[in-house]
Amino acid sequence: MASDHSNTLTNLSSAHFHLVLHLLVPLTIAVVFYRKRWLVSYLVMLSAMLIDIDHLLADPIYDPNRCSIGFHPLHRMEAIILYLAALIPNKTRVLGIGLCTHIILDSIDCRVTGGVWSAS
Ligand SMILES: [Zn+2]
Repeated sequence: MASDHSNTLTNLSSAHFHLVLHLLVPLTIAVVFYRKRWLVSYLVMLSAMLIDIDHLLADPIYDPNRCSIGFHPLHRMEAIILYLAALIPNKTRVLGIGLCTHIILDSIDCRVTGGVWSAS
């Protein structure tokens, strides 16, 4: 896939957008659905960010033009099935929500950086 370095400003703002969503979406879910223990739930959901550790295996570590989904080991279908399974037991549900939110946000990000939504 060809990378476009003339678009540095767009890449920068979409990286920020990505990070802000990764922080705000779990916070919203925690406050709305886990009002009484929102902080613990939020921290558990934030720990889902740790699956981005698999980026360290890739070269370069971060490429704004690359889609994480299906590329990194913890962002592949086999892993995603585990994340969905984590939604079922009560004990792992909050973590499962965090993991699935992470995957959903990453895939949205792919569409943005892939230019699918850049027409707007
Ligand atoms: Zn990710």
